[in-house]
Amino acid sequence: MDILVVGGGGREHAMIWSLSQSPKAGKIYCAPGNAGIAQLAECVPIGVFEFDRLTAFAKEKEVGLVVIGPDDPLGAGIVDAFEAQNIPVFGPRKNAAEIEGSKTFMKDLLHKYNIPTAAYEKFDDYEAALAYLREQPLPIVIKADGLAAGKGVTVAYSLDEAEQALADIMVTKVFGEAGAQVVIEEFLAGQEMSILAFVDGETVRPMAAAQDHKPIFDGDKGPNTGGMGTYSPLPHIDEAIIQEAIETIIKPTAKAMVDEGRPFSGVLFAGLMISPEGKPKTIEFNARFGDPETQVVLPRLKSDLLEIFLAVTEGRLADIDIEWSDEAAVCVVLASGGYPGPYPKGVPIEGLEDSQGGLIFHAGTARGEDGSWVTNGGRVLGVVGLGATIAEARAAAYVRAEGISFSGKQSRSDIAMKALL
Ligand code: AMP
Repeated sequence: MDILVVGGGGREHAMIWSLSQSPKAGKIYCAPGNAGIAQLAECVPIGVFEFDRLTAFAKEKEVGLVVIGPDDPLGAGIVDAFEAQNIPVFGPRKNAAEIEGSKTFMKDLLHKYNIPTAAYEKFDDYEAALAYLREQPLPIVIKADGLAAGKGVTVAYSLDEAEQALADIMVTKVFGEAGAQVVIEEFLAGQEMSILAFVDGETVRPMAAAQDHKPIFDGDKGPNTGGMGTYSPLPHIDEAIIQEAIETIIKPTAKAMVDEGRPFSGVLFAGLMISPEGKPKTIEFNARFGDPETQVVLPRLKSDLLEIFLAVTEGRLADIDIEWSDEAAVCVVLASGGYPGPYPKGVPIEGLEDSQGGLIFHAGTARGEDGSWVTNGGRVLGVVGLGATIAEARAAAYVRAEGISFSGKQSRSDIAMKALL
């Protein structure tokens, strides 16, 4: 079966690496892909919002399955576009992807169905939001309603910071229409973790749990990024807490979406805060695989990813078994100098061999004129180590990460340390 994967980052590289191991997988195409992905798939220069061209390409090549990686095309209805042409596609429809695309929708849904989340108020009027904000205890969390490339959330520790964030969203409109509404939310203290699950209507099959590191610098200092590293499993978090999150958050949310007439099909990814008392609450939902969570979750998958995608797409997830390995995985992201601010592209990369494709997932690379590797994005590579324990996986990831260099290279030195302390 030939497959088209839509997207072009480290997440899509990891998915394609996993799909390519399926005995059922034929040729894999990736639109638009990247230079690293091109080692495993044929990259096609079609953008993720070019639905007409994407569906025409899938028809022409008679692909058996389309897999959508990123959030923005899901929010714009890419799954509906493929379904309208009767092309099998893995991912949620637009009305289900709204669980990620609109924080007010998500918060109202959780509130309506009594699913644990932070207390909140929503506003479409700046003055009303400001008046409410000034009455709240600190810290306080300000969120733009819509998709804002991961930058729409401010955890404010002073009123000045909070007012600035609100004005940026509602007055300066730095996120455009995504900031037409704002959510002001109670600050939750505790440990963050993510649970990803395959979901097909009310059927929920949790994947391995993972933890990301958002800030650019060690010790969670500095501005947030797309994610600087991940690890899985989470040995320092009690399995009972993970089970509680699945039973009290993920499963009821899948059921609520069915009850709302928006059945979810695809990967549901819950960002959770575990309170000091060990109670999980929802911070956010994503309607797709996380990046870089995918890079540590899929190497632990023992089952055939293509079979799982097909089962979800065909509504028979309940009928299959999914097996995970006990091995630990750690991903260290290598980022360009300057990231998450402006960064150069085209910087030569030393120490990256073509044959390392396996567990080095490319997020932003290109080939120079002589075929050598150069940087081509903020996050450049996700280097994954595997081992019997987190400590072993971590050591393996750092050995490989240190063998790769480029001018300005940034990486955190404390990925997965929380699991070891
Ligand atoms: P989100 O995009 O909603 O996941 O938010 C981005 C980050 O902001 C999260 O990963 C948390 O670190 C932080 N955050 C969001 N909401 C809250 C909250 N209610 N309390 C504490 N931290 C939060």
